[in-house]
Amino acid sequence: MASTVPTGAPDPVAALTEFVERVAPFDPEPSAVQGTVELRYGHATETVPLTPHLAGALREALARYRDPADRGRCTNCGGHRLDENLHCPDCGRLHGVLGAMIAERMERDRWGATAPAE
Ligand SMILES: [Zn+2]
Repeated sequence: MASTVPTGAPDPVAALTEFVERVAPFDPEPSAVQGTVELRYGHATETVPLTPHLAGALREALARYRDPADRGRCTNCGGHRLDENLHCPDCGRLHGVLGAMIAERMERDRWGATAPAE
């Protein structure tokens, strides 16, 4: 199988092939094929026989994946787009320790120096 994905682009077909090669030696029933996974990307195509062992490994790998940009959800609006500073661009809320400190400071400034100490 030759990959024809453009240079520098992610090659999921090669990644699938490498994944299968890593899992296959541990498959207790390599001939118990229950289905196939076909992946086409660019002009590359890979069709992989799917055994119960490989299906389980694939399911686990997919379930464990977290997008590098996934920083959780905004507790205020439920948005998924928290930036690297844990700032929600949808509602403006800041999360994390820094966000809590800033919110506390803003609340104090809002009520001025006459606010009772906590
Ligand atoms: Zn939000």
